[in-house]
Amino acid sequence: MTVPATATELDYRGLVRGALADVDPQRRRGWAVDGHLPREVLTTLAAHGVFRERWAPGATGGLPRLVAMAEELSEFDSGLALAAMGHSEVFIGALSWLGADAAQRELLDEAFAGRAVGCFGATEPQGGSDLAGIRSTATQEPEGWRLVGRKRYVSNLGAATHLLAVARVAGSGPRDLALFLVPLDSPGVRVEGFFDTAGLRSCDVGEVAFDTLLPPHALLGAPGMGLAYASRLLQFERLSICAQLLTAGRMALGLAAAHARRRIVGDGPLLDKQAVRHRLAHAHARLGVAGAALRDTVARGTAGEGFAHEVAALKLVVCDIVERVTDDCLQVFGARGYTTNYPLEGWWRDVRLARIGGGADEVLTELVASRLLRPDPRFDAELERLTAADTPHP
Ligand SMILES: Cc1cc2nc3c(=O)[nH]c(=O)nc-3n(C[C@H](O)[C@H](O)[C@H](O)COP(=O)(O)OP(=O)(O)OC[C@H]3O[C@@H](n4cnc5c(N)ncnc54)[C@H](O)[C@@H]3O)c2cc1C
Repeated sequence: MTVPATATELDYRGLVRGALADVDPQRRRGWAVDGHLPREVLTTLAAHGVFRERWAPGATGGLPRLVAMAEELSEFDSGLALAAMGHSEVFIGALSWLGADAAQRELLDEAFAGRAVGCFGATEPQGGSDLAGIRSTATQEPEGWRLVGRKRYVSNLGAATHLLAVARVAGSGPRDLALFLVPLDSPGVRVEGFFDTAGLRSCDVGEVAFDTLLPPHALLGAPGMGLAYASRLLQFERLSICAQLLTAGRMALGLAAAHARRRIVGDGPLLDKQAVRHRLAHAHARLGVAGAALRDTVARGTAGEGFAHEVAALKLVVCDIVERVTDDCLQVFGARGYTTNYPLEGWWRDVRLARIGGGADEVLTELVASRLLRPDPRFDAELERLTAADTPHP
């Protein structure tokens, strides 16, 4: 299916919905039980142009589409939203930004078409917060690159055809890191297995080990620039996470408010109790403010402003808000909310990942804090003036 390049944002949202209408709802129920997404579901999204059209207006020009994709997919299935985010915002994002040679451009086209599906491997068994501590290595050989290492907690590894791996190239630059395209069917690449997780169960998370010889075009971009590349790609991932979280929060609130209007406790509806009404009103207010902040951050990014700190700050705050909102909504549902007959407990488990994945809270807090370390001429001068005048009056 081809979509006109001039598709408006509304058309794009309709396009994602149209793609989801083609996914068999009966089969969807099995994804979380199996713990895996079928690759065909991403191919179906691709066939409708979901990924190609996200990137048609460019990386930042397409940010409103990134948000629409995250909202529509996470309302349908949170694990699908996570898998599509890795494929689109990291794998396609890296290829469309850095893909230079013919084989890389061809792989980008395969990724748009859903014939290639990408996942991202930065985290290793010894740690994920400190990318500078990555131990996987890439060594240049006459035929190409020898990649040796292991990646853990790779989302959607089971459905992927390619891993975008961060590896160390000794002596190449500031942090010696680089990005590599690793076909998962290459000799010497072994998917070791998967981990059972608290939430987002339809998107698997696995471990892959490699000792493999890759062609020269496996290197994406320049050696030594891997940390800078990964940091930029993670900004898009973080925006998508914010949109996914806010969708979960809004759905939880909508359902909790409906329950509170209908559930009779004592002599009237639960929503007549001021404590409950206020709890939900606070949730509504927090989600509204967080939604406005997301739109503002997207607008800044679309206008071409640097927004790494803003995105980090947004993710920190949105995680905090949505974790609280889903917990409050589950509380309003009482025992029903804790059972799997209702989706509250699922949203409550799903959103917990966001404080760890895509940059853990502590790592993002350090990034935000780095802003405070910069001298600020206005307030530094003001403090000097106040300090000079800080004497007791006679
Ligand atoms: C479901 C799931 C999916 C994932 N998908 C992917 C994926 O697709 N690709 C990928 O590469 N990774 C993925 N991850 C891994 C995730 O990115 C890492 O878990 C995360 O970066 C944290 O790394 P870690 O778990 O090794 O924790 P560690 O690095 O061991 O840190 C443990 C804790 O200490 C905190 N900490 C670390 N340093 C400091 C410090 N200096 N000061 C204070 N606190 C600190 C951390 O914030 C964290 O809370 C996934 C994880 C999960 C659970």
